[in-house]
Amino acid sequence: METTSTPTHCPYCALQCGMNITPLPQGGVEVTERADFPVNRGALCGKGRTASAVLSPAVRLTSPLVRSGGRLVPASWQEALDRVAERLETTRERYGPDALGVFGGGGLTNEKAYALGKFARVVLGTSQIDYNGRFCMSSAAAAGTKAFGLDRGLPFPLEDIPRTGCVILVGSNLAETMPPSLRFFGELRENGGTLIVVDPRRTKTAEQADLHLAPRPGTDLALALGLLHLVVAEGRTDEDFIAERTSGWEEARAAAMGHWPEYVERITGVSVPQLREAVRMFCAPEAAMVLTARGPEQQSKGTDTVGAWIDLCLATGRAGRPLSGYGCLTGQGNGQGGREHGQKADQLPGYRKLDDPAARRHVAQVWGVDPDSLPGPGRSAYELLDALGTDVRSLLLMGSNPVVSAPRAAHVEERLRSLDFLAVCDVVLSETAELADVVLPVTQWAEESGTTTSLEGRVLLRRQAVTAPPGVRSDLYVLGELAARLGVEKGFPADPEEVFEELRRASAGGPADYSGITYRRLAEENGVFWPCPAPPVTDEDGEDSVCDALPDDPVHDAETDVHPGTPRLFLDRFATEDGRARFAAVTHRASAEEPDAEYPLLLTTGRVVSQYQSGAQTRRVAELNAAAPGPFVELHPRLAARLGAADGDPLAVISRRGRAVAPARVTAAIRPDTVFMPFHWPGEGRVNTLTNPALDPTSRMPEFKTCAVRVEALGPQ
Ligand code: SF4
Repeated sequence: METTSTPTHCPYCALQCGMNITPLPQGGVEVTERADFPVNRGALCGKGRTASAVLSPAVRLTSPLVRSGGRLVPASWQEALDRVAERLETTRERYGPDALGVFGGGGLTNEKAYALGKFARVVLGTSQIDYNGRFCMSSAAAAGTKAFGLDRGLPFPLEDIPRTGCVILVGSNLAETMPPSLRFFGELRENGGTLIVVDPRRTKTAEQADLHLAPRPGTDLALALGLLHLVVAEGRTDEDFIAERTSGWEEARAAAMGHWPEYVERITGVSVPQLREAVRMFCAPEAAMVLTARGPEQQSKGTDTVGAWIDLCLATGRAGRPLSGYGCLTGQGNGQGGREHGQKADQLPGYRKLDDPAARRHVAQVWGVDPDSLPGPGRSAYELLDALGTDVRSLLLMGSNPVVSAPRAAHVEERLRSLDFLAVCDVVLSETAELADVVLPVTQWAEESGTTTSLEGRVLLRRQAVTAPPGVRSDLYVLGELAARLGVEKGFPADPEEVFEELRRASAGGPADYSGITYRRLAEENGVFWPCPAPPVTDEDGEDSVCDALPDDPVHDAETDVHPGTPRLFLDRFATEDGRARFAAVTHRASAEEPDAEYPLLLTTGRVVSQYQSGAQTRRVAELNAAAPGPFVELHPRLAARLGAADGDPLAVISRRGRAVAPARVTAAIRPDTVFMPFHWPGEGRVNTLTNPALDPTSRMPEFKTCAVRVEALGPQ
């Protein structure tokens, strides 16, 4: 029997590695690498290689569940959907539309994120929608928008990395989160470039660096300002670039000059010679990049912290030029696209602002509704979860597991339990789904088509390769059925391509313009970078119906009039009104919670290579579970000696919000004042029981990356 392979992309992280899926004669499918996709060029990490395991009916939901007599029991789709629609309607009638909450996820395809935002605003009429991407990259998005007028994770392809001169990688452990991407950094060094890694831990990524800076958690902002101070003091600024392409330099310069290297050394623990060496390495080559990830972003000052790193790029002329720039390494599978199409509390499709009258008019026209009927901005993710059971009485949740992934997780769990009604759409019975009144089992990845947008801003097509088990339906089907039951008969098709066609129109003219992208193009090309506008069209009045394209938009191909997409942004001008990048001009401040006598240590959190996010999928894969069976507390040998703890001994880590227990992992790779725990597990080892929900004032990002704790050795068990 002849078997055919379907080219597609990984269901997990934002690298979106290319892979082939081949049905096996004995049943099931095989996942193999795709050498033709330039991002992974044939490499897959363990999560990607084992991705087919989550397709097995043995680990996933195959029937709707409804709560009856306190237990979740199988039900028909008709019964489950009727129950959801009825309870949402009851809540709306009793408390008004804003008592309905919607919570999405950065793993949802572009089509699902788009349909979910439209469903919330058009069908439910609620402003209360946000998603777990708020916990992921929102500070980088806010800082990028402030500085450049536009946020696209990477404004250049990953393939540019080997050809630049130096990369400062801030708060990213790519060796564990996106292993195939390390190849780009290896090639950078082979080509004579240098890699600087900023991380409180000597991670596997830091081991590969030419220089490792290990600042105290929560002090990356001071570190960036200390480097900028030295750039100025050593006369390494690019005055022509500053004069021609930026604004706000004098304020930024003054802010940096207040951060003397010795002062920065005291705050961060990074020595003055190391600071000088970093500046030398960054400024010596003609081109250089700064890439940030969750380390500097998941802080209550994350927007300012990223802003300071961008200022370093701007002052040295390392932005908006070939092979130079600032970029954010988004984490979730559709972390980029998930924030562009309307599931964010303050945004409409095309990355438009919800409070912009022109944006409201454009999107309302596509949706066939009155712009005045669209609700305004709602609460951010943590604030929405915090309001459950009080202002928000019923919640529809799709593609997220906040019981494990939200900060102050025990409180969030309690809020979820206090809801009048909770409906969850998921592939597996996650810890959050276990609390639901109705669970709807939905299709995933290889069982449906849909688009994602990788961390490079490259829009990709995931193709359906297998048939979903009977009893499973798509999220788009769920939204369409619920819309019909709530009185909106049209506008929510189950066919992803039909949704994408509408998304194209809704995004046209917006910052994230997808109007020139089609499923056909995505199938023929290895993805298309946005913005990719369709040729302008004129409406009945002879007016351009599509807003101006971005300034650095390449000219349409005269032969075919097909836009080639935009792999590199800002080369001629930035996307601000005056075309200049804006300095952030920020100063260091302490974290929301600093150590004291009662809680004398810092806790920082992160990931391990064999688990993904809240672990809802990967904890169900035997091979991954064997490699990473549970949480641990990483601590320095000096701290371990003080506690009288040996490797493997159980430790209690206690913060103002609760307590988590996990075995010790003693290593000199971490600072003696800091402990580290990965966040993929529920139960007593759930680190997010401890984390601080203090929010960044701009991005509303919680401070996952640092809080004060004490550690107690529980003795050998
Ligand atoms: Fe999948 Fe990310 Fe691993 Fe690539 S690096 S195989 S996209 S999880």
